[in-house]
Amino acid sequence: MAVLIMLNQVDPEPLAQHLKTHSDCPEIRIYPDVGNPEDIECVIVWKHDEGVLNDYPNLKLIASYGAGVENILSDPALPEEVPITRFVDDTLSDQMAEFVLGAILNHRLHLTYYREQQAAGQWREREYLKGMNVTILGLGELGSTAARLLDKNGYSVSGWARSDKNIENVTSHKGSEQLHDAVADADYVVCLLPLTLETRGILNKELFSAMKKGAYLINVGRGDHQNEGDLMDALSNGQLSGALLDVFSTEPLPEDHPFWKHPKIHITPHISSPTNRANIAKQFMANYNRLQNGVSLHHQVDIKRSY
Ligand code: NDP
Repeated sequence: MAVLIMLNQVDPEPLAQHLKTHSDCPEIRIYPDVGNPEDIECVIVWKHDEGVLNDYPNLKLIASYGAGVENILSDPALPEEVPITRFVDDTLSDQMAEFVLGAILNHRLHLTYYREQQAAGQWREREYLKGMNVTILGLGELGSTAARLLDKNGYSVSGWARSDKNIENVTSHKGSEQLHDAVADADYVVCLLPLTLETRGILNKELFSAMKKGAYLINVGRGDHQNEGDLMDALSNGQLSGALLDVFSTEPLPEDHPFWKHPKIHITPHISSPTNRANIAKQFMANYNRLQNGVSLHHQVDIKRSY
């Protein structure tokens, strides 16, 4: 039996090397060198091509290389009954929290602005922005860690999820009926939601209008959370003062996309929290052994919820 690494846009070799450090690792195959499809018991996937997961009759586990699983679940030919796990990891959460704090500090302290002034040979001071209210959409593994870090740094933090949360010093909002209340006082709105039918396009003109004028958006969830036209309008009319976008509907962002040259958009290339290969190898091996022993898997995706 073998594990198949099937990663699009990511070099599979480093993951293979980390898996090999585990003495109990099964044989590793790297897509498209699959060999006999009947040998494949597990796959580790990222942005796979639709339908390919159906080629392995003995498949028992689909492990996502990342925390988000929308690319797996959107496959119309996904094999039924095969459990799907997602990547959950303290390092992933800590990196994301640090990135969110960094994005807020960069905006409040005008660091990018000063870099631009330097390029123009200008010496111009600006006052630090005072706004310290942050709302995080999605208070799961990543959102709750970011909320705690922001709280420690003196921010006033609110969050929004499907269920009530009890995180010290974090005001909890839940459900669609409380979404607008959740963002009403925010100076910064951070999207850390999974992409599902319910959350697709959630960063739209209704939500922007519910924010106070001049709020700043940080989208580190998924590109399809944002309605691009609504976002451009909200930036043009001043409803939003700016946006840091780490994720896009099409990645890499096409060369001619208007976001590239927009003065109020700060682009990062989906790097806010990269997967740590050693840790995903470790998580995969833990689940592989659980599978062999017939024990329930860690971080199994709830297909009904889509996350
Ligand atoms: P979790 O599943 O742990 O958390 C998801 C959160 O979103 C939960 O709090 C959940 O509510 C909430 N949520 C889901 N659907 C809804 C809804 N319809 N209404 C309100 N709240 C909702 O996910 P993670 O924190 O691990 O990851 C979140 C996302 O971050 C990933 O799916 C991925 O898209 C993105 N990501 C981005 C990365 C990057 O580099 N840019 C890196 C890693 C992840 P409840 O708690 O009540 O269930």
